[in-house]
Amino acid sequence: MPAGSHAQDRRVTSSSLGDLGPGLARLTLASYAWLRPLGEIGCPPIRVPRLTRRVVLFAAFSLFGSSMAFANELDDAEKLFRTGRYEECARAAIEATRRGGRDERWYALRIETNRVRGKNKEALIAADEALQRFPWSVAIHWLGHQVFRENGREDDALTELAAIETLVRRMPNRYGGAESRLVLGRYLLFRGADAKKVLEQFYDVAKKQEPDLVDVYLATAELALSKQDFALAADTLQKAPKEAAEQPGFHYLLASAFSNDDRARSEKAIAEALKINPNHIDSLLLQADHQIDGERYAEAEKTLQRVFAINSQEPRAWAYRAVLAHLQNNSKGEVEARTSALTRWMKNPEVDHIIGRELSAKYRFTEGAAAQRRALEIDPEFLPAKVQLCDDLLRLGNEEEGWKLADEIFANDGYNVVAYNLITLRDRLAGFRTLQAEGILLRMDPREADLYGQRALALLQRARKTLGEKYGVTFTEPVIVEIFPQRKEFAVRTFGLPGAEGFLGVCFGRVVTVNSPASQGESPSNWEAVVWHEFCHAVTLNKSRNKMPRWLSEGISVYEEEQENRSWAESMNPKFREMLLGKELTPLSKLSAAFLAPKSAVHLQFAYYESGLAVDFLIQRFGLPALKETLDDLGEGKPLNEVLPSRTKTSLDQLDRDFVEFAHKRAASVAFELTWEEPELPVDADSKAITAWLASHPKSFPGLRRLAARLVAEQKWTEAKEVLEKLKRLYPEYVGSENAYMLLANVARRTSDAAAEHQALDDLTARAGDASPAFLRLMELDEAAGNWQGVASNAERLLAVNPLIPAPHRQLAKASEHLGQRSEAIAAYRALAILDDSDPAEVHYHLAKLLREDGKTTEARREVLKSLEEAPRFRDAHQLLLELVDTSKPSETTESPKPSRGN
Ligand SMILES: [Zn+2]
Repeated sequence: MPAGSHAQDRRVTSSSLGDLGPGLARLTLASYAWLRPLGEIGCPPIRVPRLTRRVVLFAAFSLFGSSMAFANELDDAEKLFRTGRYEECARAAIEATRRGGRDERWYALRIETNRVRGKNKEALIAADEALQRFPWSVAIHWLGHQVFRENGREDDALTELAAIETLVRRMPNRYGGAESRLVLGRYLLFRGADAKKVLEQFYDVAKKQEPDLVDVYLATAELALSKQDFALAADTLQKAPKEAAEQPGFHYLLASAFSNDDRARSEKAIAEALKINPNHIDSLLLQADHQIDGERYAEAEKTLQRVFAINSQEPRAWAYRAVLAHLQNNSKGEVEARTSALTRWMKNPEVDHIIGRELSAKYRFTEGAAAQRRALEIDPEFLPAKVQLCDDLLRLGNEEEGWKLADEIFANDGYNVVAYNLITLRDRLAGFRTLQAEGILLRMDPREADLYGQRALALLQRARKTLGEKYGVTFTEPVIVEIFPQRKEFAVRTFGLPGAEGFLGVCFGRVVTVNSPASQGESPSNWEAVVWHEFCHAVTLNKSRNKMPRWLSEGISVYEEEQENRSWAESMNPKFREMLLGKELTPLSKLSAAFLAPKSAVHLQFAYYESGLAVDFLIQRFGLPALKETLDDLGEGKPLNEVLPSRTKTSLDQLDRDFVEFAHKRAASVAFELTWEEPELPVDADSKAITAWLASHPKSFPGLRRLAARLVAEQKWTEAKEVLEKLKRLYPEYVGSENAYMLLANVARRTSDAAAEHQALDDLTARAGDASPAFLRLMELDEAAGNWQGVASNAERLLAVNPLIPAPHRQLAKASEHLGQRSEAIAAYRALAILDDSDPAEVHYHLAKLLREDGKTTEARREVLKSLEEAPRFRDAHQLLLELVDTSKPSETTESPKPSRGN
């Protein structure tokens, strides 16, 4: 893998044809059978510089076939290159070429060993010699093109492209082999040809010609990666022949394919690559990239040092160093690093592209977008910068420009996966409904908007006021919130790609995306808690100008959920308790890393939990003002690990120690009288067996819980209750499966103790805001007791979890009617009319009655007619219709039938 191979998507735009005749695009001569498809490949004509410095010679003889001795030496030299022994390889290549090595690959090696080490002069000399010696080699011309480009010799680089075109045009049969096809494929992609066609007509054909040629798989994966088609890249590499595993480039591409979705796997592949070749620059750079993601800046710097030891001028390494300087608020260092990156090749768009991409990964979208614009100023056709800029703009809420760019990318590059997904999504979003309130722009699927749009809007307004005031943030532009019924759409809007399981919502600053309950299956989370959490991100990101580490942002959002509603907080389950007290507790100063490459889903959940605890610790110990000042300092670009000690007047080490103590204390305060041994009993052990086991483990939580569940199953209510009361007393925080509350409610229900059942369910719902079955049962109990206030409040609580089922709307409608809350009742019946088709006549009748009471006669009449349509003999409805006809006056109101909850 040659270094610098990222910058492949580039289009030569000028349409001037120069003196070399028609371009490859026009090559459709019948005799050039294999080249025929080029005409359909959509390759634009090439621009040839006026001054063609190199005269392309056409040799009519073949130089292939070298002596066995040379061949063995060549294999050895290629191995040296592959394993990163660049200097030895260079010596061997120089020696061989001096002896007149007749294989062009010796020259290729000479060029590559110099390129990779940043020895530009030598690389240029080698390229010149190679071009003289092998003027018919498209591989050498392609290498020459890269070397000239990297050294800022743009015109010479273009001459090489033109040479490739001329050669192929004149002697197409010569370049029909697999290896030539790969070179030509890369060349065509660079020229902006249709990627799919290159894939089919070059790479796939090459694969058929030489199924064991590793480079075919690498080239295909490279192409897929450049189009963000990570799945195809991974799939292709997994099908590569076994020998591929000897290539560091193979592992590097695999690492790139998994970089987004599976960090652990990606890291493993990097390690593989570096095991073969510790000097593999692409892999080292990807490693540095991951280290920067994980806020392991010192390690990243060390990795960059390793790159600089190989090539002190590596532009991508300098770009990463500019990123490090930026993140450390060192603007002078940033400028210097960027300048170094561009020394050799001023028009290298990849430098700013990398800088911007990394800043965007740090949520600094404004700075990231600015960097992509710089890249595009240098090279207006540089596709990766366009794709990233499009992403940035959409995340910044700059939608008009963002969507326009998506269109443009898609028009130029139909294979780009992200662009395609975005265009599809935009069409879908066009069908969404927009709800607006001061400072809020909420977009929802129209059906969902009818069901809980106003509720969501009211919640957002409350969040804006409460959290905005608390943190001293005023938004100058509305916050955009989009709620997606489909997980895939959420993922595309959020990450550009489907997948990304496990996210309920994401906030980019001004833009918030949320998964609706519709996408969450049987037991959705409390969406109100999610919206509150995400809006809190919008507040803290605004305050810190998007310059806060992930853990702190998450920690404050988690903390604020609990402040707003205790039932939204995650309870301390036995696993978290164990992790807090054990080795899994991450030091406060390193919490960001806990979010990246977490070992498991539980570890990621724990990272949220621990971050919330850390914020709780900071606020308890140093006060909210200190935290707010910390956010302000971050907004000025100062790194957290400098800001925290200064704002808390406590060293980082001390903070780490104090936090451990705080966390341990918190964990130890929970379930401290219990132990955690698991009963080693068969699954069907009865209560007697469990009781016997408990005699030697009287405090075992798993044992007691199992006994309680078993006693309930055996219908031993009195004994069950006794154990459950004990469990509840010893570990009231536990709301996981088979929790004491749910089981106690069960016992009470079976013993017809409504008051006790209600109490147990109340206790549970105070701690678990998404306990849908408990809310459903509470509504039943309240209705039976005629407690309509209770019915209404539990219906509201269930709507905060799942507004897409009829039950809470039905109960809220009934309760509101009983309580004389007309507008609430109307809204609830309207929702019910959408969701419930079990008794539509009744629903429309109720709506009609309420609307009439509200003075909305026209609407009332419409509803009563709907009711009669469903049930033509519905006597009450006929009566109501008569009354409506009688009382209708000319001054009647004619509001549009929008749902509204007048609160
Ligand atoms: Zn969050």
